[in-house]
Amino acid sequence: LASVAIAASLAATSACSNTRDEEASSASTSNLIGIAMPQKSLERWNKDGSHLDEILKKAGYETSLQHADSVEQQITQIQNMINQNPKVLVVASIDGTALAPALEKAAEKKVKVIAYDRLINSTPNVDFYATFDNYLVGKLQGQFIEEKLGLKDGKGPFNLEAFAGSADDNNAKFFFSGAWDVLKPYIDSGKLVIPSGKKPATNEQWTTVSVQGWKTETAQSEMDNRLNSFYTGGKKVNVVLSPNDSLALGIAQSLESKGYKPGADYPIITGQDADLANTKNVLADKQSMTVWKDTRTLGDQVAKMIDAIVKGGTVEVNDEKTYNNGVKVVPSFLLPPVVVTKDDVKTKLVDSGFYTADKLGL
Ligand code: BGC
Repeated sequence: LASVAIAASLAATSACSNTRDEEASSASTSNLIGIAMPQKSLERWNKDGSHLDEILKKAGYETSLQHADSVEQQITQIQNMINQNPKVLVVASIDGTALAPALEKAAEKKVKVIAYDRLINSTPNVDFYATFDNYLVGKLQGQFIEEKLGLKDGKGPFNLEAFAGSADDNNAKFFFSGAWDVLKPYIDSGKLVIPSGKKPATNEQWTTVSVQGWKTETAQSEMDNRLNSFYTGGKKVNVVLSPNDSLALGIAQSLESKGYKPGADYPIITGQDADLANTKNVLADKQSMTVWKDTRTLGDQVAKMIDAIVKGGTVEVNDEKTYNNGVKVVPSFLLPPVVVTKDDVKTKLVDSGFYTADKLGL
């Protein structure tokens, strides 16, 4: 139901437009599109990169696709791409605040820049942004917890542990705010209790529970620490707010190592991305939900943006107020995220072709 409502509300948002100025045409005569992606080891960037690469090639573009493990490596890759005079540079940044100097060079060369999934901050030299509605991702996680626990009906108290994404990722604060806006009133009223005391007092304090680099191992050891120190004498954690799947995986591993059992005392755990291992965990009752962002639609939208830029058309956007990067509001296209639970893995992820039934062992 949620997804239908979101899709409808998105369709109702009239698409605003942004016409590029005359100056915009790239000095380049090449047909090259640079694609800079984060870590290949994180499943989603692997998939995002190869999908975008494939559709651009099919549309007749040359591409340079690079994944980076560190901010420094990503900056070098971007510099190298700009030296090749691409028509457009697509960047899913590792650190959204670190690219301003590199992008100055892009602007000098009239290379248009699209921020992919994550906003690029503190620079005027980012032309468009395509992403999923990041605040809504967190809100869906918060609402899922609210509903599962019956918080609206006054149930509780429950023990909650909260995590947030990487502090250098602009999306992470949106995810946290979306969830915290739903959950905070229940924390304040005592229906949600945080035994570890790791409790951001405001949305702005989200970095106190962040996990650098979105690392599974870090989430696992942090959960181990919390369980060891604050869940003694039979106390159980009832719910874990995890912003995404890479963290949820580590949290689940920690819980399992402490003997939590699905169907018995296993807590609610949220996630995001519908990664393969996590989707299997959802089927096995080791993760309660994942917020699925069909990254194929993001790639398709970015390919449309690229085509409009290169051919001198109008770039379609549907949000021109949310994503202020500190220098300007970046015209954005926001796609709708979708909640997936055990009951709809098949109808949402398999029937759409995101996974084959085989891959999920269905
Ligand atoms: C993305 C998420 C992803 C996370 C870690 C975020 O910027 O929006 O989908 O889980 O990065 O890769």
